[in-house]
Amino acid sequence: MAEARTRFAPSPTGPLHLGHAFSALTAFERARAAGGRMLLRIEDIDTARCKPAWEAQIFEDLAWLGIDWPRPVLRQSTRLPAYAAALGRLAAMGLTYPCRCRRADIRAALSAPHAPVLGPDGPVYPGTCRGRPMAEAGPDDAIRLDMRAALARLGPLPAFTDTGPAHAGRHDLRAETLVDTVGDVVLARRDIGTSYHLAVVVDDAFQHITEVVRGEDLFPATPIHVLLQALLGLPSPAYHHHRLIADDTGKRLAKRDDARAIATWRAEGATPADIRRLVGL
Ligand code: GLU
Repeated sequence: MAEARTRFAPSPTGPLHLGHAFSALTAFERARAAGGRMLLRIEDIDTARCKPAWEAQIFEDLAWLGIDWPRPVLRQSTRLPAYAAALGRLAAMGLTYPCRCRRADIRAALSAPHAPVLGPDGPVYPGTCRGRPMAEAGPDDAIRLDMRAALARLGPLPAFTDTGPAHAGRHDLRAETLVDTVGDVVLARRDIGTSYHLAVVVDDAFQHITEVVRGEDLFPATPIHVLLQALLGLPSPAYHHHRLIADDTGKRLAKRDDARAIATWRAEGATPADIRRLVGL
């Protein structure tokens, strides 16, 4: 059997907060319990928002929490050729098209009579640019997946297994749901040449991840990832979507809530054991 491998994949766009601590500790402990390892991956493709200082802080906070990981750490900013290759394969299958729509165009196309359906990435794309040939793709275009074409290409759809508390069990991908509530997702943003979905799928396979541990907020994105794995012929890991850590008022924590940064707790004298207690471990 393959070694059990989980990963913690933060984006260095701000300080780690209690939600990240819970996620990292869960990934670390699930890997250890299975006799395997947790890998750390720095998701820094969004260079405008990622800062080396935040990355350094992530390493420091994780080590302080008692978490250990193999070096060297994989940085997504070094992996752009791998993402381009995966995009090229999907394009060669005829499953992609260039999209020149801006947010405002999409909003206008979706206005009235019905409220737009919200997918994992926002309003489901109305398909304005669908069918544009890839030969037309230029620097002002994002690249989208033609969801209907992708589903037609696959035939029987794959399933994935979740071991988290809220979604435990087997989840079959459903074509209708993917078309109606996910739609033609962006595979490559205009500015960075890839997207979260494509990069995460390529890297989870590259790092031989056997179980993806992450927050429940990403559960709606998982069918996209499983679909891309099937299209690219990549193995599908198991998934463990864990509960989210809320603040005292029940609101989900966000990176901007600096008061909840691990660094702030540390500065105020909290111990790693205090952090574990705070997140219910
Ligand atoms: N980089 C993502 C984040 O910080 C996590 C992605 C994942 O776990 O799949 O939210």
